[in-house]
Formats: sequence, C-alpha cells, structure tokens
Amino acid sequence: MEAKRAQRLSNAAAALRERGLPLTVQRRALLERFLGCTDHPAADTLHAHVARRIPGLSRATVYRTLETLVELGLAVRIAHPGWEVRYDPRVDQHHHLVCDACGAVDDWEAPALARLPLPPRSSGFQATRYTVQFRGLCADCARSGPRRGAARS
Ligand SMILES: [Zn+2]
Ligand SMILES: [Zn+2]
Repeated sequence: MEAKRAQRLSNAAAALRERGLPLTVQRRALLERFLGCTDHPAADTLHAHVARRIPGLSRATVYRTLETLVELGLAVRIAHPGWEVRYDPRVDQHHHLVCDACGAVDDWEAPALARLPLPPRSSGFQATRYTVQFRGLCADCARSGPRRGAARS
C-alpha cells in the first residue's frame, strides 16, 4: 500500500513536471494529501487543510495542480448541481453516495452497477462511461437529523 502510494506520487510528480509544474515542497504536500484522500474535497477545502501545515501554498497552485491532474487523467472532477467542483483521485469506475445535508461524498461499488446497459449507438449518443450518484443522508446526518444550512448547495 505504502509503495503503491509512493509510486502514484512519483508518477503524478513526473507528469506535472512535464507540464511545467515542478515538485515544490508545497506541491508535494498537496499531492500527498490529495492522492490518498477519499473525501472528494473541493479545491478550497484541500487548500485549507494543506496550508495549515505548509505555509506558502497558494490557492492558485492548488487549482492549477488539480486541473492539470484532471487533464492528465490522474484525477476526475465531480460536479453536483449548485456545488463547488470537487476532485476525486480515483479514476477507475466507481459510484458515489452524496449527502444532501452536509455534502459528504463517499465511494460506493456494487457488482450490479458495473452492468448497467449503455445507450445503444442507434440513440446517436456515444456513451463512454458513467457514474451513479445516490442522493440522501449520510449515516451521521441520518442519525442527527438533517442539518439544514450546512449543505454546500
Ligand atoms: Zn451528511
Ligand atoms: Zn470517488
């Protein structure tokens, strides 16, 4: 696991360097936090976390790094209507549980979801991939009742 993570980090660092984004102390800390995360953070959330530890990390660096990772196919952007963009370091097909109250996004996988029929070519639409979003309340919010106003929407 550790070795795999180190490998991902060095792959991402090499790809970013080729795009003219060198591996500074700040960008390294950002990658370490982001590549291991499962909470689908927004750029500002990620910035707040990492900048607490690594002063000098600018918002612009966070945005540019995340967007470049998306262009390189090393991260995906997930957008929900009315929300700020969130980023996911997992690029293999998986699905999401989205809490309408607090904005938490968890990964979800189920064998049946891998077998959804794609729209046929005759529809004129060429589907290449899909992600299913289940909307509702996360375990915490379901327990305490929806906290209105805490939502990101
Ligand atoms: Zn919640
Ligand atoms: Zn995900």
